[in-house]
Amino acid sequence: RQKIMTNSCQRRIGIMGGTFDPIHYGHLRAADEAHAAFGLSEVIFVPTGQPPHKAGEKVSSSGDRYMMTVLATVDCPYFSVSRIEIDKTGKSYTIDTLRQLKAMPEYHDTEFYFITGLDAVLDIVSWKNPEEIMSMCKFVAVSRYGYARSRMEELPEDLRSAIISLEIPLLAISSTGLRERVRRDRSIRFLVPPSVEHYIRKKSLYRDI
Ligand code: ATP
Ligand code: MG
Repeated sequence: RQKIMTNSCQRRIGIMGGTFDPIHYGHLRAADEAHAAFGLSEVIFVPTGQPPHKAGEKVSSSGDRYMMTVLATVDCPYFSVSRIEIDKTGKSYTIDTLRQLKAMPEYHDTEFYFITGLDAVLDIVSWKNPEEIMSMCKFVAVSRYGYARSRMEELPEDLRSAIISLEIPLLAISSTGLRERVRRDRSIRFLVPPSVEHYIRKKSLYRDI
């Protein structure tokens, strides 16, 4: 008798990668929208080690970015943070992280949903092995302020057809904007969780950029 395998026996887990310098409500809302839309059991935030796309730019230490990501997610029962990329030496690539996660026994029956903002999606041709990334997970493109969904037409057809679009309420928040606000002594209240705001002040982050 043929055994019918359905996707319903698979766990679905979201992966939210980012520099998180600092993490903000834009990231948290995007992860929460994906959690609801795809029935994810969990969303794992993966702060990057040395980000390949940000070579030359000043990035806060992995320790500070990890700590802020933990502080921002600790209250949510289905959010967690992984050290998988920050514990690596050298550059982190999404493809390597996905391979590593998929090789773990606890994730052998898991379908990963890789959650990405539209700005990052438009950049995907510059990533390492984009086709393979797409074949290893569900690749989700969430709305991002300033990036029209129609710009996905710029992507090669084979990549574009594999991307799942998810419309989410736009929050015009970026880490770049937040760093700039801190540097200019402007408030970041209601843009990041209070614990993150306090951590930034306590460690005097973003003062000297
Ligand atoms: P930076 O300005 O330093 O690039 P950022 O705000 O873009 O910071 P990242 O850590 O680069 O944050 O982003 C991680 C992921 O979160 C990316 O996929 C990005 O597109 C997505 N993202 C960031 N901010 C938002 C937002 N406000 N709404 C939706 N997605 C977002
Ligand atoms: Mg960014």
